[in-house]
Amino acid sequence: MATLSDKKIAVLSPLGVKATLARMATAAVAAAVLAPAAAYGGNRVTGTQVRDYTDYTAVIVKLEKPALFKVNTTKDGRLVLVIDDCAVTPGAAKLDRAVGVVKKVTSATAKNRAYIYVTPGRGAKNYEGKSLKSPPQIFFKIYKKPPTAPKAAIPKERPEPIKEKPAVAARGEFATSAKEVKPDNTPTVIDTICIDPGHGAHFSGAEGPGGVLEKDVNLEISLRLARLLRDELGVRVVMTRLDDSHVYMRDRTRLANAVNADLFIDVHNNAVLNAKVGGTETYFLSESRNDWERAATIAENQDFLAENPNFAADPGSLNFILSILAQNEYLQESSELAHCCQEKMVKELGLRDRGVKQAPFYVLVGCEMPSILVEIAFISNAAEEKLLTDPAWQQKAAEAIFAGIKAYKEGYEKNMGRGGG
Ligand SMILES: [Zn+2]
Repeated sequence: MATLSDKKIAVLSPLGVKATLARMATAAVAAAVLAPAAAYGGNRVTGTQVRDYTDYTAVIVKLEKPALFKVNTTKDGRLVLVIDDCAVTPGAAKLDRAVGVVKKVTSATAKNRAYIYVTPGRGAKNYEGKSLKSPPQIFFKIYKKPPTAPKAAIPKERPEPIKEKPAVAARGEFATSAKEVKPDNTPTVIDTICIDPGHGAHFSGAEGPGGVLEKDVNLEISLRLARLLRDELGVRVVMTRLDDSHVYMRDRTRLANAVNADLFIDVHNNAVLNAKVGGTETYFLSESRNDWERAATIAENQDFLAENPNFAADPGSLNFILSILAQNEYLQESSELAHCCQEKMVKELGLRDRGVKQAPFYVLVGCEMPSILVEIAFISNAAEEKLLTDPAWQQKAAEAIFAGIKAYKEGYEKNMGRGGG
């Protein structure tokens, strides 16, 4: 199986230079910049929640407004989340009993700063946190160490309890590995966007009545969108493919994660048996709520299932997907991005507004950033198929998606205190 490093993954940088993924992965990622503290005046911690997941335990700090934070460590091994110009509502941040690898949570307000103290328990490995916009919260993960060895079965009659290994100094270990993780990786600006032109090579996607292949129009519109984002927003654009090559579905999200993309835009066009159906719809990753959404899921998941036959045969795979969804911390952002793009596409292209929808697309699973899948038009509808092959209309479609991303970006950055607020 081809890996990312041996496939030529194209990257369009703001300078228009093509680079390989290997180069991009080693390139320095723009450091997060803390906005002036005054931008967050009067903020409040309204509550905390500790949730345990398979790989990590999450401390969710609920805020009145989005805010950046810093992570410090105390001498006794506690982690301190520091939020400027913020106070803790009395009793809002407290945890007395251990949950997962989090032993205790306490809080304090001093000198107009909120302090959330997290005591990691045994088995804590390292941490990572990010600030989310809506609902405003800090999502702070404490990762677990992988289990060292399977537990030996204890014979029933054995009189002596099995001696436990001497407890490792959790805090020492924690402190050591915590250094490996960059504590504050909250993106304050959106400066890298990954575009995924759907399908490619022998996976051609849908086919129109006039023989137009979805993979080709997806690519054409994606390239136009990439140029707009690069030239007019000055962001780094990473494309999963630049030509009619085959890229494994899993490698598409891996690429986006590897280059630390802030957004993932999957470009597709729709098809159904009924040739009269037309319009524009935008998806984000979640459970399907109705038959229409389920049908779209099946259509767009075909490439993935062809590449991973065992996955489809595994009855646990759906549960696997749903468990990932349950942890999805980008739902709200993805939904917002989807609404921005849908609104602009409907306004600019004038096709039927089929709305923002949700479905479990495999290609979006594993994305560590807000992600959407746009279905610009119906290739199965002869009139829309014709539009899709018109270069002027392709440009208009790219401009509409561009306008949606731009609106989302501006809203996000304003909320993060970079928009002069
Ligand atoms: Zn498609």
